[in-house]
This record gives sequence, C-alpha cells and structure tokens, in this order.
Amino acid sequence: MRIRYRLLDLRLGAVSMAVRAILKMGDPQLLQVARPVTDFQAPEFREAVLDLRDTLAAVKGAGLAAPQIGIDLAVVLFGFDRLVRYPDAPSVPMTLLVNPVIEVLSESLEEGWEGCLSVPGLRGVVPRYARIRYRGRDEWGGQIDRTVDGFHARVVQHECDHLIGRLYPTRMQDLSRLGYTSVLFPELTDPSAD
Ligand SMILES: [Zn+2]
Repeated sequence: MRIRYRLLDLRLGAVSMAVRAILKMGDPQLLQVARPVTDFQAPEFREAVLDLRDTLAAVKGAGLAAPQIGIDLAVVLFGFDRLVRYPDAPSVPMTLLVNPVIEVLSESLEEGWEGCLSVPGLRGVVPRYARIRYRGRDEWGGQIDRTVDGFHARVVQHECDHLIGRLYPTRMQDLSRLGYTSVLFPELTDPSAD
C-alpha cells in the first residue's frame, strides 16, 4: 500500500501546486527500482513533473528523484545557479531527466561531500565517477545526451541512484566520514535541511 502525503495543494484556475513530503531513509519505497516512463502525456507522469518542480523549489535542494516523493517512476530533477548548502558548487542547468542511462567515461573516482533530502541533517564523503555521459528524455520525450564531469556528474549519479533504490551512504567506502552537517559545516546557514 502506498501512502501519499499532500502538504500543500493550491489550485488557482489552471495552475496547481503541490509540495509533497520527502520520504526518509528507512522507507521501503526508497529501496525500489523505479518504473520507466512510457507515456509522456499520462496524467500520472504530468503530475509527477509538477510535484517534483514544486517540491524541489520549496526545499531549495540540488536535486530530487520521483521515488523520494513516493512516485514510482524513473524521473529525476536537478540543477541550480547557486546553492546555500553547497556554496562552492558550480552551476548546473535545471534538468528534468526521464529514463536516464549513465555511461562511465572514466573509471577514475573522485571523492566529494554529499547530502540527501531523504537523509536529512547528514553529510558524507562519497566516491563518484569523475566523468560520465548521460542520456535520457526530457519531460516531452525529447532526447537529452550530455557528457559532464565534476559536480554535475556527481549530482546525476546521486539522483539516478535513487531510481535503483540506492542512497548515498551505501556508496560510501569510509563511514567515519559520515556526520552531522551542523558539526561538519557549522558555517552553513541552513545545516539541518539536508
Ligand atoms: Zn538524494
């Protein structure tokens, strides 16, 4: 049985807004492999797109995957100009990516700090492939095909992991480098949020 939460649902004419609750680590829905999207016009998918956008905007995160808001579809949303939580991160274009496939272009791994909206209050050092090509569809079924590195590559790998039921602590190699954001990065203004 799936429980769906709707914290805020404003309907203003044709405009609807829904900020959903974000599931936290321990919820079995975060451990599932997400279903691919087959119909880009399906109401279930269109609603998922809106809810991802509204929810990510509300929490000011770097990215969000559909399973994190209880939607069993292979859809992720990521991107930002500048993040309070990652002040040193370069900008990444706002991207809604459907049915993603990642190709590793360099076997070399880079370590970097990650947080997750489903693991609130914590950060950990996670190794990720330094350079990847990712392909998938945009929200209307158009092709997306990008070759990226650095933080952009990290964000994509983190978000796509949510679609195969993986959370970043399961990618860590040294759990002594997992800790509370408020302790590790006390200078951040919003340390409790992720
Ligand atoms: Zn996450």
